[in-house]
Amino acid sequence: MNDKVIYNCHAHIFTNKNLPNRFIRPYIVPALRFTPLRWILNYPFRWILNFLLWISPLDDHGYFDRLSAFIKTAHQDEAENLKNLIDYYPEGSRFVILPMDFEYMRAGNIKEDIVQQHDKLAELARQHPEVVIPFAHIDPRRGDALKMLVDLFDEHGFKGVKIYPTLGYKPNHPTLMNEIYPYMMKKNIPLMAHCSKGSVNIRTWCKEDAYDCAHPRHYVSVMKKYPDLRICLAHFGGNREWKYHRDTPGDQNPPSWLRCICELINSGQFDNLYVDVSHTIMNYRENHALLCVLLEANPKIAKKVLFGSDFYAGEKMKYTEKMISIDLRHALGEESFWKIAYDNPIAYLEGKKEEDQDIFGGLIVSEVLQRAKEQNAEVS
Ligand SMILES: [Zn+2]
Repeated sequence: MNDKVIYNCHAHIFTNKNLPNRFIRPYIVPALRFTPLRWILNYPFRWILNFLLWISPLDDHGYFDRLSAFIKTAHQDEAENLKNLIDYYPEGSRFVILPMDFEYMRAGNIKEDIVQQHDKLAELARQHPEVVIPFAHIDPRRGDALKMLVDLFDEHGFKGVKIYPTLGYKPNHPTLMNEIYPYMMKKNIPLMAHCSKGSVNIRTWCKEDAYDCAHPRHYVSVMKKYPDLRICLAHFGGNREWKYHRDTPGDQNPPSWLRCICELINSGQFDNLYVDVSHTIMNYRENHALLCVLLEANPKIAKKVLFGSDFYAGEKMKYTEKMISIDLRHALGEESFWKIAYDNPIAYLEGKKEEDQDIFGGLIVSEVLQRAKEQNAEVS
């Protein structure tokens, strides 16, 4: 037994009201607010489609199970989703909750915008201060991006920033470089950046252009200008790139995003670059072995990987978050698991350097110095 708690660094609790109407084409999001239609899609329709998928040559046999589980959760409210998430993990676990701003996806109207979504998350964080670690979703194209961020941090105690470049901007967008990142540096705030070729892209661009916005190479200029900014490349490049990496013998041309990220970390130049295992590894068991090898064979990478599940994007109807996370924990073994689920998240979230941790009875050096100063002040 140990006294560590699990940090899940990547989870969502947003609802269908935060999705644009054409998130699932053509207008499935508003149609599914009609309960009988949802039942038909979640049960008889899913069974038929599952059977057709099962006899088809396609390799993603779980697609409709995943879609059904997603639809079911998206029609519960945020508090219910949070409760379900908490119940899947041991008591005391903590969760980074990432809102999603789909306004610029160009996929139709949204019932509840990002401001309402942030407000609800702030309220849940107030109710569960030991459990919820709220992040703000910042889209640099919003005119009031910095003001939104400042309010969320100063008024509501948010702890991090999420960006989603495949929605149509690069991580070195001028507003991020000149306003958002400097504020984050001042306030010691970490960044979570979507880094995979997933299904959420700006709809008015071709997919390849949207994917390119999230390419790991775009972070080099950010890290050179802000070397102390802690950046997590969510999804570790994504399952497509992991599959490409696994299936390509010899030199890869172009190199997989997985290889690009590993090279950035191995270069030793970017001390504050992290990745999380959400979705890519959590939900694709064929990637467990490669992650185990990376963690055991490469000490530099072992220090930079964070546990995250992408709840509820990867659940299936009969393969819940609980089983998904237990499977990964079993594959990694206890030592590696606690490294990615506790040690590394603390370093990422709080910015404690290794040499500062676990000395002076759990206080970090800066806290010790501050306390000594206060005591001196009291004496004098
Ligand atoms: Zn996610």
